[in-house]
Amino acid sequence: MPGTELFGAEERKEVEDVLNTGCLFRYNQEAIRNNHWKAKDFEAEVRKITGAKFAHAMSSGSKAIATALAASGIGTGDEVIVPPFTFMATIEAVLFVGALPVFAEIDETLCLSAEGIKKAITPKTKAVCLVHMCGGMADMDPIMKVINDHKLILVEDAGQAFASSYKGTYTGLFGQAGSYSFDFFKIATAGEGGVLVTNDETTYKKADVYSDHGHDHIGNARGMENHPYLGFNYRISELHAAVGVAQTRKVPMIKEKNRKHKKFMQELLSKTPGISFAKVADPNGDSATFLNIMLPDTETTKRAVNEMKNAGVAGFDYWFLNMYHFINQWDHIKELKTISKLPIEVLGAPQDYKNLQLPKTQETIGRLISFGIKFKWTEEDMKTLAAKISECVTKAMKPVTA
Ligand SMILES: *Cc1c(COP(=O)(O)O)cnc(C)c1O
Repeated sequence: MPGTELFGAEERKEVEDVLNTGCLFRYNQEAIRNNHWKAKDFEAEVRKITGAKFAHAMSSGSKAIATALAASGIGTGDEVIVPPFTFMATIEAVLFVGALPVFAEIDETLCLSAEGIKKAITPKTKAVCLVHMCGGMADMDPIMKVINDHKLILVEDAGQAFASSYKGTYTGLFGQAGSYSFDFFKIATAGEGGVLVTNDETTYKKADVYSDHGHDHIGNARGMENHPYLGFNYRISELHAAVGVAQTRKVPMIKEKNRKHKKFMQELLSKTPGISFAKVADPNGDSATFLNIMLPDTETTKRAVNEMKNAGVAGFDYWFLNMYHFINQWDHIKELKTISKLPIEVLGAPQDYKNLQLPKTQETIGRLISFGIKFKWTEEDMKTLAAKISECVTKAMKPVTA
């Protein structure tokens, strides 16, 4: 969580600007805001890094992906292809816009594969909600071919891939709209926050209106604006946006350090038999928030995880058993346990969620251990950690048999 590690004077200064005026609201109020527009500044910083033509800050990454779907015209009854390895917000967003998630296979990029997407397409498929996982990115050339061949809408959940790119294009900008999260756990944090990006002005305007009760934001009379269509409140506050501004300015520096640390760790660990790394579709565009270690098979990986726990190694995720990132533990999604009826419960699920066969995904996530890369790691810290990981993996590779 490099952003969280670097919280300091810059963030305090931006927040103080807002506290000094008391204008916590992002729209209008020119008379009291002393010309501070933190949400707009936050959006400008995101555009600067990604090259997006339009950016719209919101209250969370979850709301940003839900808005990206809605603004792309995805709604009730539309089949949307999704990955079984993602933070579950992706699936919730699809369900809550009324659409029907269809799970497809990922590959060693930890993202949906072109082949997986192709196999999941049905006559009802309207869109793909691609998720760029663990700071990396999906293999976009073959994926864009499938998207274009089948005339599908692409929406990207780049919740954990802000500032990563593929062959020069930033994640979130391959399809109609994309989203980043700035929650506490991401490369940069606003406390809570999300940003929708798009190069399409119409999609941007829809997102802007939708995320603020339909206000068209034309003119300066808050209660008197037109409301071209229905919306809801997904607004970000100026306080959160202020933190987002200061944090986003630090991202180029964070990314450079992350990449250095990841390279160093990989060099140390690649000497250990059994250790390989998840595929990065474009190594030059990796924001390197995670070091993704792959072991030969799930059983060895489980043994390595236990060895690491016993050895007191901290700071890693074994997603295969994680409650929020992997489909195996998503019982409430598979059984559609809801507190009030969703469209999918009326229309019927497009797949038998309880009996999905996703062998490639099972095999890939079973072998994956991810370490969050720390900005403040010293060379000594990394050498110590790598040595411990190596030792645990080596033990796991040669289990003691009775
Ligand atoms: C973090 C995350 C989200 C949700 O973001 P919030 O800001 O916490 O709502 C969505 N998708 C992915 C892939 C994420 O990692």
